[in-house]
Amino acid sequence: MPQASASRRFHEAAEGLGLHPFPRPGGNASRAYTNEYGMQLGPCTYCGFCEWYGCYNYSKASPQTCVLDALYRQPNVEIRTDSNVMKVELSQDGKHATGVTYLDENLEEVFQPADLVLICAYSIHNVHLLLHSGIGTPYDPATGEGVVGRNYSYQMMGGTSCFFDDAEFKPFAGAGIEGTCVMDFGIEQIDFGREGFIGGSYLSVGLTNGQPIRSMPLPEGTPRWGAEWKQAIGQWYGKSLSIGSHGSNMSYRDCYLDLDPTYRDPFGRPLLRMTFDWKPNDIRMTQFMKRQTEALAEAMQPTSWNSSYKDENSHYDIRPYQTTHNVGGAIMGTDPATSAVNRYLQSWDVPNVWVSGASAFPQNIQFNPTGAVGALTYWMADALRDYIRDPRPMGEG
Ligand code: SF4
Repeated sequence: MPQASASRRFHEAAEGLGLHPFPRPGGNASRAYTNEYGMQLGPCTYCGFCEWYGCYNYSKASPQTCVLDALYRQPNVEIRTDSNVMKVELSQDGKHATGVTYLDENLEEVFQPADLVLICAYSIHNVHLLLHSGIGTPYDPATGEGVVGRNYSYQMMGGTSCFFDDAEFKPFAGAGIEGTCVMDFGIEQIDFGREGFIGGSYLSVGLTNGQPIRSMPLPEGTPRWGAEWKQAIGQWYGKSLSIGSHGSNMSYRDCYLDLDPTYRDPFGRPLLRMTFDWKPNDIRMTQFMKRQTEALAEAMQPTSWNSSYKDENSHYDIRPYQTTHNVGGAIMGTDPATSAVNRYLQSWDVPNVWVSGASAFPQNIQFNPTGAVGALTYWMADALRDYIRDPRPMGEG
C-alpha cells in the first residue's frame, strides 16, 4: 500500500541513521481481489476507521470479509449468533468432550452434542473455558506444576510522540496497517546480552486514523480540556506522529491466569484472575528502545517531542489501554507436563478438544499475534483433516 507522508519522513530518518526501514506488512487489500473462496475484496480507501471497526469496504483481511460468508453458504454449516458457550462438557472419566453447554439469545441453556470441540475464543477466554470445564491441570505457581494458566505474557509498549510546526500530515486518510517499520532492534537482530536483557522490539510509525477525541495527540503540558485544549487541537492536528515500540514480554513463573476464588460472573462461573506485573528484564528492554526512538525522533527534527515508556517504578495497570496482545495460558509444546496442547493445538488431556489462538504462545516475542495465530490455525486445520479420518491423540508426530 502507498506510504503516507509521516511514514516517509520516518523512513528517511531511519535510513539516515543506517537502519533498514520497510513498509509495515498488513492484510488490507491494495486493489480489487477475489480470494480462493470467491469472496470479493475492494481496494482500501484509507477511510481512517480501520481500528475498532469492521470494514464497510470489504478490504480488510478479517474472517467476516474473507471466510465467514463463504462458509455460511455451505449446506452443512449452521451459525448460531448471540450464543455464549459456558462450558465444554466431558464424559465421566473426563477424557472425552461430549459437547458444549451454551446460552442462546433468550439466555436459555442448550446442550449441543459434539464429536469435536474447537475452542477459538479470544486467548484469555480460551483459558477461562479450559479451566471452567476442567480440561487440563490448572497451573500452580507455588510448585510450578500444572499447565492451564501458565506462561501468561503480554506485550511491552512504549513510544515517542513528535510534533512538527511544518508538517501537513493527513491522519484522517489513514489505514490500520499503513506504516513503516524498523526491525534492527528486534529479537535476534543484535547482541542483546551486551545490553543486559533478552527480547526485543520492532519500531513503527503509521497514521492509522484521525478520529475525533480518540486520536488527538498534543504536546506535553497541554491542558486536557477547555479553551487552551481546543486551541492546541487546532494548532497541532495533522502535525504529529508517534514512533511506537512493540516489545517482547517473557513469561515468568509468577505471571499466570487462574479461576478467581471470590468473584463470579452473572452466570455463576468464577471469573478469570490475572496475576501479572512488569519484570526488570522487560523494563531494561523497553528503556533501551526509548533511547533508540528518541534518537530517531531527533533525526526527524521535530519542534518538540515527548516519550512514554515504562521504567523501574512502573507496575502493570489494567486501566489505560495498552495493547490487546495477551498471549499464553494454554501453550503448545512437546511435553504434557509443561504444555496444555500439543504441536497441533490438540489438548493433551481431552484429544477431541482443540484450542486455537494466541493462548498457545509460550511468550510474547514482540510481534502483534494475528499473523502467527492465522498460520497456527491453518496448521491446526491441516492436522484436523487427518484427525477426522482417524481420531486419536496426535502426540508429537
Ligand atoms: S482503512 Fe481499513 S476499514 Fe477503511 S477501507 Fe481500508 S481496510 Fe477498510
